Amino acid sequence: MTGPTADSPRGARLPVREELRGTSPYGAPQLDVPVRLNTNENPYPLPEPLVARIAERVADAARALNRYPDRDAVELRTELARYLSRTGGHQVTTGQVWAANGSNEVLQQLLQVFGGPGRTALGFEPSYSMHALLARGTGTGWLAGPRTEDFRIDVDAAARVIAEHRPDVVFVCSPNNPTGTAVDAGTVLALHEAAQAAKPSMVIVDEAYGEFSHHPSLLPLIEGRPHLVVSRTMSKAFGAAGLRLGYLAADPAVVEAVQLVRLPYHLSAVTQATALAALEHTDTLLGYVEQLKTERDRLVEELRAAGCEVTDSDANFVQFGVFADAHVFWRRLLDEGVLVRDNGVPGRLRVTAGTPAENDAFLDAVRKLMKENAT
Ligand SMILES: *Cc1c(COP(=O)(O)O)cnc(C)c1O
Repeated sequence: MTGPTADSPRGARLPVREELRGTSPYGAPQLDVPVRLNTNENPYPLPEPLVARIAERVADAARALNRYPDRDAVELRTELARYLSRTGGHQVTTGQVWAANGSNEVLQQLLQVFGGPGRTALGFEPSYSMHALLARGTGTGWLAGPRTEDFRIDVDAAARVIAEHRPDVVFVCSPNNPTGTAVDAGTVLALHEAAQAAKPSMVIVDEAYGEFSHHPSLLPLIEGRPHLVVSRTMSKAFGAAGLRLGYLAADPAVVEAVQLVRLPYHLSAVTQATALAALEHTDTLLGYVEQLKTERDRLVEELRAAGCEVTDSDANFVQFGVFADAHVFWRRLLDEGVLVRDNGVPGRLRVTAGTPAENDAFLDAVRKLMKENAT
């Protein structure tokens, strides 16, 4: 047995599940450097009027903390449904929305219901590594599907994998982390069709970066398709990664199904109150999203001008390269005081769009290192 989950420093040997032995916990380095652009957080702190409103609503919630919170988070799900209906191009009801502690918990609940021992989930890699880790944690088998050289999903190749392996769950991340690649509706529909013919299985569209896309949300695709789920989060566009609030939109039957596995009272009254306050300030927060989209497009342009190969991005981050050894370049950026992400994609790194000043510092460092590389 190897690894921290199996052998503690004191040498205790724990009867950890076979498939967890020797594995490492998820985690990007949390280093204290001047410019941190590695975890796709929103660089803008919440505006002061919203901070005040959160304090007010949390104080109200605190007066009732002797009681369990609303187990079904009805008020919050109603406001999330209103937000989706306003911005997602499709009307959804409270009964079609479910919320949990971050979209990671939403995805975990979906795998607890639709995956599990003896079942498999498919994702198209490189993609969000938590999809595979959540599969592992829920005892779900993992299948790594292919992407093209320019990081797109090839419909025919993907449909062949689905037909051959008949996965129970298919993850489609759009815009995709870490590449920034958006998936068009036609591709999702083709994958959904292949998945229905093979099993039928659930198709989970992870739209954590939906608000940053040049393209409209894939939310309307849930209409008449009870096997298609769209998951969202307040961690990125709403600038509230610390809040831990994710949600999904799907057929009401999916919402009823995840209630079979959710822990009772999983969303604290404090979380619900804070999320409701944030939703009152949606327009201000979406204003920051517009600024970040402009900065994202500037990063793409200026990285290309600096001689990098850049993947088109629909998210709040940009994948760039190509480096002989991406980890060496990552290290050298760190020496310049800039932390980006090495997702293990050969030759590539990922940078989150920060404030204009942070992005300038990053771009200056890249230009300097590229010049040194060239000489
Ligand atoms: C950041 C991210 C999430 C969000 O996770 P939360 O638990 O909501 O913070 C989900 N999916 C992808 C692809 C992400 O990059």
